[in-house]
Amino acid sequence: MEIVRSIMSQYGFVESDQKEKADIVLLMTCSIRDGAEKKVWNQLKLIRSNSVNKRQIVGVLGCMAERVRHDLLEKRNLVNIVAGPDSYRDLPRLVAVASGGSNAINVQLSLDETYADVQPIRVDAESRTAFISIMRGCDNMCTYCVVPFTRGRERSRPIDSIVEEVRRLRDQGYKQITLLGQNVNSYRDMTSMDFPMNPSTTEDRVPGFKTVYKPKSGGLTFTSLLEKVADAAPDVRFRFTSPHPKDFPMQLIEFIASRTNLCKQLHLPAQSGDDETLDRMGRGYSRDLYLRLVDDIRIILPNVSLTSDFIAGFCGETEEAHQNTLSLIREVGYSFCFVFPYSMRGKTRAHHRLTDDVPENVKARRHLDSTTVFREEAMKLNQKLIGTEQTVLLEGKSKRDVAFSHGRTDGGVKAVFDNSKSQLNPGQYAKVLITEANSQTLKAEFIRETDL
Ligand code: SAH
Ligand code: SF4
Repeated sequence: MEIVRSIMSQYGFVESDQKEKADIVLLMTCSIRDGAEKKVWNQLKLIRSNSVNKRQIVGVLGCMAERVRHDLLEKRNLVNIVAGPDSYRDLPRLVAVASGGSNAINVQLSLDETYADVQPIRVDAESRTAFISIMRGCDNMCTYCVVPFTRGRERSRPIDSIVEEVRRLRDQGYKQITLLGQNVNSYRDMTSMDFPMNPSTTEDRVPGFKTVYKPKSGGLTFTSLLEKVADAAPDVRFRFTSPHPKDFPMQLIEFIASRTNLCKQLHLPAQSGDDETLDRMGRGYSRDLYLRLVDDIRIILPNVSLTSDFIAGFCGETEEAHQNTLSLIREVGYSFCFVFPYSMRGKTRAHHRLTDDVPENVKARRHLDSTTVFREEAMKLNQKLIGTEQTVLLEGKSKRDVAFSHGRTDGGVKAVFDNSKSQLNPGQYAKVLITEANSQTLKAEFIRETDL
């Protein structure tokens, strides 16, 4: 949306906070699960029924535009513009077409669009945290996933344009930047001329992890990018999401260990703890390989905070397979897990070859099991932090009591403390003493203001 806002404002469009009266309403959409799409259909109906502007143009942007373009266009009374993830530069033209009374569509996927030269316009500057998109698309073909079809091929934004954006954000006072991509650590800047210095191929991957595509070589990898951004803004904390476990070579972990401004928080989406399920998912690793990676990471980063994604009730998942997932969650001990009930998506290999045979109530129960187990473990991890000193980056005031502020530890756990005497602002770092913990939040006492 930040990129869309930038493109539209270059063409003179002005953002409105009155949805009912606006001339144009643009919805950014997600297709990853059916639930996400259902929300959009409901929103579309609401937008039309609440509108007081008879000529209002409604546009659907993003993955859903890519995936269900025909269904959207058939609903002429609800939607006027359908714009896929690589077509945002074309939006002003699409608006012009729609203003003339015709439906407007662009769902062309691109091999090189990264919006590198578009300066995103961020509206929520208060928290001093920002996201930078560094790569788009995905070349993996996990059998359950629609992303390769809605986002297209993997492509990375040139390193220099990212570093430039980091510098700009740092100059504006931002203190936390999250690097974003569908497979963020597969990043590879192929426009760079440093090829001979980086004779990288398979060592960019974790040994044993398989891919459906041929090993890529040349260009600058994610480790090089982290080095450049960490140097460009030493007082800014960096996080990144969403990575793939295969792209965590030890040199990357060692590099993260070497810099204070690279957060010791890694997202390591496992999806399942069961070998047969992992195989059917086409993830390219076994439970054992995954656990070995976790061990290797913890040797280099002993205090790392790990998070993960899991799918509950994938095609053919037995009760035993589900128990294997629960035991993996226990064994690793994550600070947070996103657990999703499996949702069959058209075009995917699972759709063509597998059967969505786990009943919805069983998916819901397994979803709850996984969530319960991860929370139990997260509780233990958080309680171990009691009595330790942590550096927290302030993000804002607590909604319940304005004397309290909240921020995050380096590991990404939310911490709340009484800020009434210290009066620090979002974007400042505080050294705090952790005094209480539950599975989601830490309570702390302010010690002093600090640098990173
Ligand atoms: N590239 C990342 C994940 C990006 S998609 C990775 O491979 O790890 C974000 C998450 O959505 C996935 O990790 C997966 O847990 C979930 N997801 C994707 N497709 C899904 C589906 N069809 N049903 C349920 N969850 C799904
Ligand atoms: Fe989807 Fe992630 Fe697999 Fe790509 S790597 S297909 S985004 S789950």
